[in-house]
Amino acid sequence: APEIVTFGEAMGLFLADAGTPLAHARRFTRTLAGAELNTAVALARLGHAVAFAGRVGDDPFGDDVRATLRAEGVDAGALRVDPSAPTGLLTRDQHGERRLRVVYHRAGAAGSRLTAGDLAALPIEQARALHVTGITPALGPTARAATLAAVERARAAGVPVSFDPNFRARLWSAEEAAKVLRPLALAADLVLAGEEEACWLSGCDDAAAAATWFLRRGARAVAVKRGARGAWVADGERALAIAARPVALPVDPVGAGDAFDAGFLSAWLREQPLERCGAVAAAVGAACVQSAGDLAGLPTGAELAALLDDETEVDR
Ligand code: ATP
Repeated sequence: APEIVTFGEAMGLFLADAGTPLAHARRFTRTLAGAELNTAVALARLGHAVAFAGRVGDDPFGDDVRATLRAEGVDAGALRVDPSAPTGLLTRDQHGERRLRVVYHRAGAAGSRLTAGDLAALPIEQARALHVTGITPALGPTARAATLAAVERARAAGVPVSFDPNFRARLWSAEEAAKVLRPLALAADLVLAGEEEACWLSGCDDAAAAATWFLRRGARAVAVKRGARGAWVADGERALAIAARPVALPVDPVGAGDAFDAGFLSAWLREQPLERCGAVAAAVGAACVQSAGDLAGLPTGAELAALLDDETEVDR
């Protein structure tokens, strides 16, 4: 049985050549995106047995989602093909520093039509963790119901829930989102949130206070992500700042949060101490920032071990 199960909308991504603003981009690399897909692939590369569920269209992008999951060793047995809607797409540019432009073509796409019934094929009860993000409940009423039902199934079976709010202002208002994301965060064992989201959902002023707020309400561990400033991590016993790993030339910051989630969850399931969970998460996040696209930079277990040992030897 898969150790970690997750679900969400996987999309085709047209990524503009580095450094070219989207409006002027003529050349694109086609790859895949989707927060839960990114985290699933990152976890598989780190050596975990992972299953991913969702809906894709009956089109080449959906085929690519399935083929990529298979190639990465992610169980796609619960991935459904929806014959009446296309696979969602997005296009964006990539820069280390300047503001990114992202254009979505995902409204009404197959991924948004996910239902609780689709997740019957996902072995949540047999897993060691369910990873959920706040994107899926923003996609539509059935996807929202599916998310809530999945979390209920995990809780009823005593399976830990890992949750990243991943608020997307393009999909719903902050007011509507808070009503759904706050209860989801309070149902989670592991809360992995950006600093702004953590403060917003908790009503606290800073990362440390926000982490304490979630811990007091049932979380077993919390990571508050602060981009190039690292993260604040806390569990019932300890709380500490995790430094970001220095990245001299950030290529593409998108996906770092999803990668960080995978690193933290991986170390947490392996019962590593809090400090190590944070260090692994930061290393996986930093590796993501150093490559174009969401998936290319994700390290294997061996690459991660080398990073954490600070091996500077070059393979040749
Ligand atoms: P997103 O969902 O946009 O990826 P996020 O808020 O979930 O954002 P970030 O805080 O941007 O996630 O990044 C997650 C982690 O990745 C950080 O805590 C940090 O460890 C690492 N990271 C991100 N950006 C950088 C960077 N420029 N240099 C080094 N590490 C980084």
